[in-house]
Amino acid sequence: MKFIASLGAGAAVWLSLSLNAASAQDLNVLCAVQVEWCQMMEAVFEEKTGLDVSMERRSTGEILDRVRAERNAPKIDVWWGGTGDTHLQAAGEDLLEPYQPKNFEDTLPWAQNFFLMSGGKAAGIYAGALGFGYNSEFLAEHGVAAPSCWKDLTAPRYKGLVQMPNPNSSGTAYTMLATLVQLLGEDEAFEYLAALAKNIDRFTTSGAAPVQAAARGETGIGISFIHDAVTQKLAGAPMVIVAPCEGTGYEIGAVSIVKGARNPEAARQFVDFALSPEGQETCAASGQNQIPANAKASLPPAAPDISLIRMVDYDFATFGSPDQRRRLLDRFDKEVLQTA
Ligand code: PLP
Repeated sequence: MKFIASLGAGAAVWLSLSLNAASAQDLNVLCAVQVEWCQMMEAVFEEKTGLDVSMERRSTGEILDRVRAERNAPKIDVWWGGTGDTHLQAAGEDLLEPYQPKNFEDTLPWAQNFFLMSGGKAAGIYAGALGFGYNSEFLAEHGVAAPSCWKDLTAPRYKGLVQMPNPNSSGTAYTMLATLVQLLGEDEAFEYLAALAKNIDRFTTSGAAPVQAAARGETGIGISFIHDAVTQKLAGAPMVIVAPCEGTGYEIGAVSIVKGARNPEAARQFVDFALSPEGQETCAASGQNQIPANAKASLPPAAPDISLIRMVDYDFATFGSPDQRRRLLDRFDKEVLQTA
C-alpha cells in the first residue's frame, strides 16, 4: 500500500502508508487528479474491497507517455483522472480496453457522449472549466491592476508574474492550448502564447502548480482549472478566481482501463466504484471541487456553476486526436517554449 506524489519538475515523494510496502499489488493505478483526492480514493477503495492498491500521482501527459512506453508489457491497470482529450488520444492509439461502467446509465449526457466518442474505452467522471486565479495581495503589493481577460495576461505589467503549466506534461495546459486555438484561430493563438510567454515566470510540470504558487504568494497569477483556484481560496488564500471575458474551454476528466492490464477484474471494480455516487463523493470529501458525472452524486458545495461561464463549444474529437496533439505540441515547443 503505497502512495507516490509527483511534485513539480520530476520530484517524487513517497508516502508509505503501511509497513507492507514491498508486497505485490492487486491493482496499479496512475492518478492525475489532485494528490489529496488520489489518497482518499485509494484509502476508501481499499477499505471497501480489501484490495491492495498502488496509487501514483502523475500529470496527464506523463501518464499517456508511460502507458505508451509500456504498450507491450503494461504495469498499470487503471488511468484515473486527468483531461479527457488525452484519454481519447490513448484510445485512438489502441492503448485502452473497452469497458462500460455499471453506473453508466446514471451519468449526465456530457459523460455519456464522451464515453461514446472514446469507442467505449474511457468514461467521463467529472467536468470543470479553465481560467486563472490571482493573489490579490501580491498584485496590490506590486502595484498592478487585476486581469479579467486572456488578453490582459500579455500586458507588460505582468512580466515575470504569471505561471502556466507545460502542455507536454499537463492536461490542464493542453486544454488551454486547445481552448485558445478554438477561441482565436490557430495562428493567432500561437501569436498570443508567444506574447504570453514573455510574462511567464515558470512553465510547471503539473496543472495545479501555478495556482498553488499564486496562493503561496510566489507568483501573482496562476493559469489553471477554476475548481483548483476555488480549492486554494477555500483553504484561505487571498485568491480571486477569473473566468476570462473572451470565454474559455473546459475539461471532461476521465477514467480508463489500460489494454492488457494484469488485473482486469480489479480494474473493472475500480472503474465501477469511481462512477458510483460513493466514489464520486470522495472528490468533495477530499476538498476538491469538480462537477461529478453521476447525476445521483451530490455536487461539492463550492463547485463553480459552469453554466454561468461563457464557454467554447469544445471539440473533443478534434483535440483528442493523436495527430492533432502531436502537431500542436511540436508547434508549442518551437514557437512558444524555445522563444520564451
Ligand atoms: N487537478 C485537477 C483538479 C484536475 O481537474 C485536473 C484535470 O483533470 C488535473 C489536476 C490534471 O493535472 P495535469 O494538468 O497536471 O495533468
